[in-house]
Amino acid sequence: MSSIELKSVEKWFGNAQVIKGVDLSIDEGEFIIFVGPSGCGKSTLLRMIAGLEETSRGQIMIAGRDATAEPPSKRGLAMVFQSYALYPHMSVRDNMGFSLKAAGVPKAELDRQVNDAARVLKLEPFLDRRPKDLSGGQRQRVAIGRSIVREPTAFLFDEPLSNLDASLRVEMRYEIAKLHQSLKSTMIYVTHDQVEAMTLADRIVVLDGGHIAQVGSPRELYERPANLFVAQFIGSPR
Ligand code: ADP
Ligand code: MG
Repeated sequence: MSSIELKSVEKWFGNAQVIKGVDLSIDEGEFIIFVGPSGCGKSTLLRMIAGLEETSRGQIMIAGRDATAEPPSKRGLAMVFQSYALYPHMSVRDNMGFSLKAAGVPKAELDRQVNDAARVLKLEPFLDRRPKDLSGGQRQRVAIGRSIVREPTAFLFDEPLSNLDASLRVEMRYEIAKLHQSLKSTMIYVTHDQVEAMTLADRIVVLDGGHIAQVGSPRELYERPANLFVAQFIGSPR
């Protein structure tokens, strides 16, 4: 079943068309990566899926319903931001339960969901700590934990590792791969880093100036790039 479907999606900022008729069907549980050079429209497309940017033309379907006009809060998606600001005065447990508490979820149910998320994310030993007493990688897991508890249809990431130093980036790439294996949720992930795309993705969407240059598995793109742009971007010797 397809989890998210884009149908002839376009985005205009004034007279400038930055997304040019994108059609894409994302399967449930798929790890899909939007890759391409700076300014090609990756963030705009992701923000349109999240509902943070209006869709100028076309349709966005989520779990079978037309979500094109829905506000972000109705879409059931979790956007994991690059700067994962946590509440410094709250424990990890309270950070993770915050949105459930705000939504009026009863305490027993809230505790169950926070404990489940902490187990998956290996955060159980840290539940009573404050964010300042965690490593960068652990903090990012708490940020992901805050969205997991809402059991989203999909996780959206916009260059989540780009602010990290090289060694932490490698560690977090591995963490995110493990997270996808254990959660089995749909993940849509934006990066301009080819290595990240090639190592994490089930399928890669290569964007070029607002349109899709090619969609395929890392291996397909590497072995059979559709054109020179893809070949050069993915780095295969064609
Ligand atoms: P990427 O994430 O791939 O680097 P973006 O989606 O941020 O690219 O931007 C795609 C294009 O849309 C760029 O040319 C950018 O300047 C333009 N753009 C993005 N946001 C806006 C905006 N709010 N108003 C006008 N132009 C924008
Ligand atoms: Mg961007």
